[in-house]
Amino acid sequence: MIILTDKIEKIKNEAERYGAKLVVAAKYLTLDETRSLIDGGVNEIGETRVDSFVEKYDALSDKDVKWHFFGVVQSRRVRDLAGKIDCLHSLDRLSLAMEFDKRLSKPLDCFIEVNISEEPNRNGIPLSKVKTLVKSLSKCANIRIIGLMCVAKRTVDEDELTREFTKMRMMKEEIESMHLDYAPCHELSMGMSNDYKLALMNGSTLIRVGSKFFKN
Ligand SMILES: *Cc1c(COP(=O)(O)O)cnc(C)c1O
Repeated sequence: MIILTDKIEKIKNEAERYGAKLVVAAKYLTLDETRSLIDGGVNEIGETRVDSFVEKYDALSDKDVKWHFFGVVQSRRVRDLAGKIDCLHSLDRLSLAMEFDKRLSKPLDCFIEVNISEEPNRNGIPLSKVKTLVKSLSKCANIRIIGLMCVAKRTVDEDELTREFTKMRMMKEEIESMHLDYAPCHELSMGMSNDYKLALMNGSTLIRVGSKFFKN
């Protein structure tokens, strides 16, 4: 895989103009390619599968990197992530939060994943269930809800994407206004290779971009 370093730099700068951060999705890369990415100056890395994360973390944890995880987490795999990842983007249930909570010695920054497109077979919880989940998390001392995350619909329809991002922003603001110590909810993790520009225009504070940066 060829890593397009200039593109990473360009999109990182673009995100920064909106006060947002870029996390590079490294699921397309081998361990050695991920090492090159980090040595090239990328220090916010996202992984999607627990096994790949474990392999890369074990080999690269001495590097100055913030590890984000945005894939599905089965409860039995929590022990492979707890204490290692810096940010979980795919919190979708109380039982998962409780599993992390009991294994952590300090608070973990989490995003609640929302199935904003409401398509079946998508990860995340419905928008209508977000507030109930947030309230129930008060019992997890080591879970800190810093924001909401979504994967928008795979479409080029900009109006549809804007509607989804706007719904996310409004829910984020609603939770923010609850002023919960454990759920400041100042952030929105949204925007990928195909829709990061619209996401930035609609309040994203963190974009997760991968395929745009790599070429066979
Ligand atoms: C792969 C992935 C990304 C990055 O998507 P690209 O289209 O490759 O930019 C972002 N978020 C999640 C949850 C992913 O699985």
